[in-house]
Amino acid sequence: MGSKRLDLISDYARHGFNLRVDCRACRHTAVLNARELTDTCSKRGWSRVMAAVEARLKCRKCGSRDVRCGPSFG
Ligand SMILES: [Zn+2]
Repeated sequence: MGSKRLDLISDYARHGFNLRVDCRACRHTAVLNARELTDTCSKRGWSRVMAAVEARLKCRKCGSRDVRCGPSFG
């Protein structure tokens, strides 16, 4: 099957994926709930575009903003 489009955080929620965030600086990995993140975006009026979401995230461990996002399967 072809790849699903995951341009928006709401696309992750719709497909039932969570958001996996990898820190490039310290290799810490976190999995965020895509539905909660989508809710947060709508409550705060934030963009749901992944590039904008990614720009807002930072590593909880080392504080780096050099993070990479992707879908988490299970
Ligand atoms: Zn880190």
